[in-house]
Amino acid sequence: MKDLDWNNLGFSYIKTDYRYIAYWKNGEWQKGELVTDNVLHISEGSTALHYGQQCFEGLKAYRCKDGSINLFRPDENAKRMQRSCQRLLMPEVSVEMFVDACKQVVKANEQWVGPYGSGATLYLRPFLIGVGDNIGVNTAPEYIFSIFVCPVGAYFKGGLKPTNFMVSNYDRAAPHGTGAAKVGGNYAASLYPGKKAKTQGYADCIYLDPTTHTKIEEVGSANFFGITKDNKFITPISPSILPSITKYSLLYLAKERFGMETIEGDIYINQLDQFSEAGACGTAAVITPIGGILNGDDFHVFYSETDVGPVTRQLYEELVGIQFGDKPAPEGWVVKVE
Ligand SMILES: *Cc1c(COP(=O)(O)O)cnc(C)c1O
Repeated sequence: MKDLDWNNLGFSYIKTDYRYIAYWKNGEWQKGELVTDNVLHISEGSTALHYGQQCFEGLKAYRCKDGSINLFRPDENAKRMQRSCQRLLMPEVSVEMFVDACKQVVKANEQWVGPYGSGATLYLRPFLIGVGDNIGVNTAPEYIFSIFVCPVGAYFKGGLKPTNFMVSNYDRAAPHGTGAAKVGGNYAASLYPGKKAKTQGYADCIYLDPTTHTKIEEVGSANFFGITKDNKFITPISPSILPSITKYSLLYLAKERFGMETIEGDIYINQLDQFSEAGACGTAAVITPIGGILNGDDFHVFYSETDVGPVTRQLYEELVGIQFGDKPAPEGWVVKVE
């Protein structure tokens, strides 16, 4: 294992030894390979640079107690990337090629997967970009699919902590735009409102639905969930939300392991009183308990600004337990890197 301060890693770029790269040329994917160079050499006319023809994914590799390494639902990331590619007219990577690439790049960088118990994980960043000489608004003549990895620390050092968010007047995506695709353009649109929220002392923005601005859609770059006072798990549904794999995993666990009623439906920003707890979920955020939300002049506190609610904690422990191999995983959720 590399000599890093595993218990105190943040979420920042660290150059690791190998990355996977495959080229799409002449109408097909060429065989991918592992390379050491972390710099891409691409045409100045690449559509990824000018017209946002690119998408990405994010998932993690986890060190188990027995030393083995788990990937969490990589096939779901592969399928979501296929949907992003369809939306942006980019060539799809097969689920098999995607999962195989994840395994290869983690195996090659095995030394960068932190020790069990440190909370550190290896974050995988798959991305697919349009490249090659071009100038007009077109699809690219060539594409690159690549995956690099970075060791990242536990999101919460010293345990789960509630975080406050602020409702934004801006939208991250248009009503029939690319909100459901994991594309850089949505993120570019979120940088300015995100910065405003941070300047005012909040962790990030709450984005409302772009059509009516009355319903919660996303919490920064994570999905929202609420636990109602009668113990239902509710999460928003909308064509402009990014379908979080963590969110679908929590929907399953809440129902199948904790016997909760689960609902995907509308969550009105002026009806937060129905919730006893709320959280944000995603690969990077895992589960972030939401302390309070500022909406205009109104600051709504859910469970507490300092303590974590029991349901949020239970869901967190179940999910993380499965990811690190401590709890039994539903069929197909855990893929070993061998
Ligand atoms: C990636 C992402 C999420 C979280 O998805 P996971 O599959 O759970 O990691 C949520 N919202 C947005 C906008 C995202 O890009």
